[in-house]
Amino acid sequence: MADGAGPASAAGSERTAGYVDGGRFNEPIQPMTLGKIQANGFHSLAVSCHKCHHEVVINVDGGGDDLIVALFGPRMVCKRCGTVGGEETTPRGPSS
Ligand SMILES: [Zn+2]
Repeated sequence: MADGAGPASAAGSERTAGYVDGGRFNEPIQPMTLGKIQANGFHSLAVSCHKCHHEVVINVDGGGDDLIVALFGPRMVCKRCGTVGGEETTPRGPSS
């Protein structure tokens, strides 16, 4: 009287975790460096004080490839009015 009940096949042994791999937002934002500025064809960096508009142009040709541009402004001190960290940095193209 076998009614065909064989050994139960292993079913449902594989369980997938319910994690959805997506939406990775932890990609680091790459800071703009002097090297990238030069790669983009800029050879100097204009640093201007937004208080007294005193402007200094820094030649970035050669060296300082890893210097982060965003760190320039807060570290600069205006030689005219003495403002610390009030500078704006603007990449300058090849001087015409
Ligand atoms: Zn100034």
